[in-house]
Order: sequence, then structure tokens, then C-alpha cells
Amino acid sequence: MDTKAPTALIHHPYRPPEGFDATQPGIFKASSVFFPNVEAMRSREWKDKSAYTYGLHGTPSSYILEERLCTLEGGLQCVLAPSGLAALALVSLSMLCAGDEVLLPENVYEPNKSLAEGELKNWGITHRFYDPMNLADLEAKLSDKTRLVWLEAAGSVTLEFPDLPAMVRLCRARGVCTALDNTWGAGIAFQPFDLLPGAAAPLGVDISTQALTKYPSGGGDVLMGSVVTRDPALHMRIKLTHMRLGLNVGANDVELVLRALPSIYLRYKAHDAGTRALAAWCQGQPAFAQVLHPALPGSPGHAHWRSLCSTEAAACLFSVVVDARFSQAQVDAFVDALRLFRLAYSWAGPVSLVVPYNLARSRGRWPAQLAQGTVVRFAVGLEDPQDLRADIAQALAQLRA
Ligand SMILES: *Cc1c(COP(=O)(O)O)cnc(C)c1O
Repeated sequence: MDTKAPTALIHHPYRPPEGFDATQPGIFKASSVFFPNVEAMRSREWKDKSAYTYGLHGTPSSYILEERLCTLEGGLQCVLAPSGLAALALVSLSMLCAGDEVLLPENVYEPNKSLAEGELKNWGITHRFYDPMNLADLEAKLSDKTRLVWLEAAGSVTLEFPDLPAMVRLCRARGVCTALDNTWGAGIAFQPFDLLPGAAAPLGVDISTQALTKYPSGGGDVLMGSVVTRDPALHMRIKLTHMRLGLNVGANDVELVLRALPSIYLRYKAHDAGTRALAAWCQGQPAFAQVLHPALPGSPGHAHWRSLCSTEAAACLFSVVVDARFSQAQVDAFVDALRLFRLAYSWAGPVSLVVPYNLARSRGRWPAQLAQGTVVRFAVGLEDPQDLRADIAQALAQLRA
């Protein structure tokens, strides 16, 4: 039977041990895997899933999670990494050599930028930043040296939504590999390997990474990343680097992600509804010069979001630009006054979180579409939205006092 992804995540091909057919798959742990004889040891292949050779190269548990993540994102192959950042680093280290150049969006996830400015630079790999909202700028920065273009939709912190299909089409025409940090979309907001469903020729990114730490885990208690592809040669290139770096994920963490995946569509929808209501309410607050949330008309890239994403898919993040008339100290005091929104990094768990950002310091230039002021990012959890609104309202009252 042909089923949709939410159903396929729950009814997944899995053969339980004889006589033990239960809701969740069994969890298997190993460093050593026994071989019956020398001939078996010599002939078993670790690179595909035909056999088991060593815990680092895969267990029944890691294979099951990899298959389900392919189901979620519409991919064919997957490797797991110990964090979302490790997944990003794995892609760059697999794809880039000395003399190559990588392009990053100006609103890239900050640690990905650090990797480019640190190890990649030290190893003779150059990088340039492009304006994700200006296709001509990306086009101008593609060169003979460009081997990889990182994409993010929506962008980190400022949540601009780019014209993803146009960017992918451009890179593909120039023969440049595209890697999407798909943590925000999670395979739910849009299909990264099928950006124009129903079109004559499929259009999609080459590589999709996710911080499983966010929606797939959903609990705020796991760090993990994934790299999903649809091309066997590309997958093998990434898998070889993965093996040489000795990257591994623990079976207990795999179990937590497998336990959370069946509810990911429900959680995503609940986060979306709560976030949208709160972001719209924030738009009416005079202290906020701008509210950044792809589903809000007027937010940068809203039209791109509307044309690509399903209507219930805008995730749990929004940022506000606190009006420039308030000092940094006043904004800090506003953030400190929040009670339900806890001051912490990450998102997509049950608890609402908040982080103030110093964009003037982290970005080369102030984003053109952004009002002047101080950016504060909210990650909406699964609390009652009215309680969250009351929390922001009481902190705003202190900001004005
Ligand atoms: C959180 C995050 C990551 C990194 O995930 P970790 O598991 O925390 O390393 C990467 N990209 C984006 C967009 C993220 O939000």
C-alpha cells in the first residue's frame, strides 16, 4: 500500500525478532560484531547494509533510524552524526579540498560560518558569503572554484525565506553541489529533493542535513545530526569521510529519536499554530519594530515561503526587532524578565526558549530588509499559547516602565 510520510514513519518495514512484534523496534548495541569464520570476516562489506562488521559502521538500530529519516525527507541514503553541527562539518569535509571555495548565505547558522573561518581556511579552502535574498548576488559569486553552496530556508535568527528552487536551479546549471541545512523544514514544510512537485523534471538539493536535536528528537535531551542524499556516489563519498572521522551515534540516543519520530507531524503542527498566533500578536506591540516569521505577510521572503511550503508549515521560530529607542541594557532586562521563555539555545522541544542576538557583531552588514534595533529570537514550545502571550506581555510592561 502506498502511504504518506506521516503514516510511513509509523508503519515502517521492520522485521521484529521471531514472536516479538511490538510498537517500537528493538535497540541493538555493539562495538564488536562476531564473524563465524575468517572467510566471512574477509568478505563482509561495511559500505552497504548487506551485513554488519563493526558498531561504528552501523547497527540494526542506526539502519532503522536512517531509513525513517529517508522516509521523512524523501531521500534514499542517510548517515548519522553525533550532532547537527557534526553533520554540517561532515558535509563540508567530504566535499571540499584545498583550493576549493564554499559559498555560505549571510544568515547561515553561525557555527557553520565558524567552521569555514577556522578549519576550512586553515586547510586552504576559501569561503564567501552571498545574500540569500538576491539571486544575482549568488550568481555573481559562483566561480570555477566553487564546489559547494550551503543553503538555509528559513535563514538562522532572521528567518528570511529565500527562493530555494531558483537557487538550486542556478547551482545545478553551473554544476555546483548544493547542501541544505534543513533543520527548520525538517522534511515537513517542503520536500528538499522535490522542490517543484509535479514538474516535468525533478528539482532538488543534492544534500540535506538536519539537526535531529530539534524536531525529530523533540525533547531537548538529544544531540544528533543526519545527512540525507539521493545519489549513491555522493552518499559513498560522505560515508567514507564519516568512517575515517570515526563518527558514531549512541544506540540510546537513536532510541529516543525513534520514539519521537511518530509524533513529529503533530508536534510540528502544534508548534506552528502556537508560534503563528504569538508572532501575529507581537506584530501589534509598538515596542517591536518588526516581527520576523516567514508566514507573516511583510516578513522577508514571505512570498517564497507561501509558494514552497504547505500552509501549516512555518515551524516554531520567530524573531522580533526591538525598536532602536530601547538600549541594549533595556532589551537584556526584557529578556531577563521573561518567565516561561527560558534563556537557552536550541529549539523544537517542549519548553519555550529565547535568545537575544547581537547581529551588528555577527553579520558583516545589517540585513537590508531589517528594521534597526535589537534582535531577540523566540522558540515557541508546547505550552498553552495564552500563557506564553501573557509572559511576553508582562516582560513588555517592564520594558516600558
Ligand atoms: C541547532 C542547529 C544546528 C546544529 O545542531 P546541534 O545538534 O545543536 O549541533 C544546525 N543548524 C541549524 C539551523 C540549527 O538550528
